[in-house]
Amino acid sequence: MTESGNNTTEFTRHRVLIIDDAEDVHRLLGARLKQERLELLSALDGRTALEMAREQDPSLVLLDLDMPGMDGFEVLRHLKASDETHEIPVIVLSGLQSPADKVTAFDLGAVDYITKPFDLMELRVRVRSALKMADLINMLAQRAHIDGLTGLYNRIAFDERWAQSTAENQRHAKPLSLAIFDLDHFKSINDTYGHPAGDEALRTFARLLQRECRQSDVPCRFGGEEFVLIMPETGPDAAAAVCNRIREALEAIEWPAHPERRVTVSCGVLGADNTATISPSDWVQATDEQLYAAKNGGRNRVMVSRADRADQSLRQTG
Ligand SMILES: [Mg+2]
Repeated sequence: MTESGNNTTEFTRHRVLIIDDAEDVHRLLGARLKQERLELLSALDGRTALEMAREQDPSLVLLDLDMPGMDGFEVLRHLKASDETHEIPVIVLSGLQSPADKVTAFDLGAVDYITKPFDLMELRVRVRSALKMADLINMLAQRAHIDGLTGLYNRIAFDERWAQSTAENQRHAKPLSLAIFDLDHFKSINDTYGHPAGDEALRTFARLLQRECRQSDVPCRFGGEEFVLIMPETGPDAAAAVCNRIREALEAIEWPAHPERRVTVSCGVLGADNTATISPSDWVQATDEQLYAAKNGGRNRVMVSRADRADQSLRQTG
């Protein structure tokens, strides 16, 4: 499902972007940072550097301040002002030694400041420490997006992914569907068999959701016994088929803790083959209304509707 693997950092070569107008600095750093398992990228001026930072997504930037044209302060300002690059840690490497320059660099968002000529041992440990900090921050950010009980994406992650998916649908008229699942009579499962049985039902459904959806689908826990599934590149008919498969798979499960009782799920689907005619938040709301229709219709069913204009030719012949 997610890219939440824990051990990836150990095997990832960090990419470090060195920005300095002096070529010998690049040569020197290249030679001295060789054993650090880093991939080094070089930029000799500010404009090129900003482009590389956007395109190559480095884990760390080493930045000279004194450069012709766009100086380091300006580069730092740009890096921190852009959504794409503002999280990249920047260590300033500079011949400027005045406290005022240091204060300015830190104010602009630098994580560290090393004065030239620098001691290579010191540079190495500071680079390591900045990378370790960046890894920790990434790990925490990732955890903040994961639901503790089920390991699925949580509501915060859903909000982000949904914003991205609906933007794609708006820009490129790509098909998109959303499903909301709600376990039937969940409170009664909790009340009758206890909370461990309720948790087991949530975890089992989460696993099933992951197994039965497609690679590109994004399953999330919405809260309580509600789950959502974002289905990119999928129109309402295909989405309903996926959700029915999930519904049937849950119904088929026999539960060791309560063999006499099956767990079922109701589901609302709202999908678009073309650009949607409703806002992202109305889309969620309207999907929820389909879910309520499924509940009112007797539960253990999927109700589907469209978020775009229905195909008129189909309407007329149908
Ligand atoms: Mg310079």
